[in-house]
Amino acid sequence: MVQDDSRHPAGGVDYPRTLQEFDEWFPSEEACAEYLRRLRWPEGFRCPGCGKGKAWLTARGQLFCASCRRQTSVTAGTVFEGTRKPLRLWFQAMWYVTSQKFGGSALGLKRVLGLGSYQTAWTWLHKMRRAMVRSGRERLAGNVEVDETYVGGEEEGVRGRQTLKKAIVAIAVEIHFPKGFGRIRVRQIPDVTAASLTPFVCEAVEPGATVHTDGWKGYNDLPKHGYHRVATVLSTSGDPAHVAMPAVHRVASLLKRWLLGTHQGAVTNRHLDYYLDEFTFRFNRRTSRACGLLFYRLMQQAVQVDPVPYKQLVGGKERADHKM
Ligand SMILES: [Zn+2]
Repeated sequence: MVQDDSRHPAGGVDYPRTLQEFDEWFPSEEACAEYLRRLRWPEGFRCPGCGKGKAWLTARGQLFCASCRRQTSVTAGTVFEGTRKPLRLWFQAMWYVTSQKFGGSALGLKRVLGLGSYQTAWTWLHKMRRAMVRSGRERLAGNVEVDETYVGGEEEGVRGRQTLKKAIVAIAVEIHFPKGFGRIRVRQIPDVTAASLTPFVCEAVEPGATVHTDGWKGYNDLPKHGYHRVATVLSTSGDPAHVAMPAVHRVASLLKRWLLGTHQGAVTNRHLDYYLDEFTFRFNRRTSRACGLLFYRLMQQAVQVDPVPYKQLVGGKERADHKM
């Protein structure tokens, strides 16, 4: 089902605005299941068996069709599928993660919710991160800066090993004139060759856009793919403090600070993509003033994605598997 993102969701109507409202909205499993039902079937539930709309919702999130008595699970096909924990706990976790400016760590989530194990908290956070990126989202357009940066790894100054452990992250940022940024796309790439950079740009940026890069030859193929490339070549004798791609530079330093601060730098390259997804989700919604709106967006996307077994989460994303 395609959710209509263009309708502007209203605080107090579509989502709770404060912690107090959150508690009032979701006092029980029934209330949580009902909220999920509304999000999954905004036009009203239709039985997949007979197409009729009259059904009863149980506390366990089952919809019983009044006509054919078929059962449809509210959580099937969502991040909540097969969970043995109360939905209410999930809702609290999602509120916790979205109501904090910098998100939460697994340790923090375990502590706040009183979860029994660190592994549960870790798994939940990763399931949420998966829901933070929508497939088929619009690509960046207009003027876009693209550059790479290095993230993570051991302490500075350990040459040789350092480049082995650091992950290469490609960053694309929409830039507005005279100033300001729009949306971003961030992804780990295996190397800085054209074979890695060109697909990144194609996935992140709408053809026809003006792509600002440095003089690196890895971007030479972009015009072949419909991009207008503007290369800024810094003179070798130039001011070392001058940055060729100021928007990317700014986003990269925010990203590094976030990884070091919220997550204490404890992110392995194998799982880095999930964190990049969360960072992107937060950054692209940074102007959302309403506290509950981020919660709403995450919920909306959580009921649309396929469930991911723990094993697959631990394995990391395939595209990152050849790294460390
Ligand atoms: Zn039916």
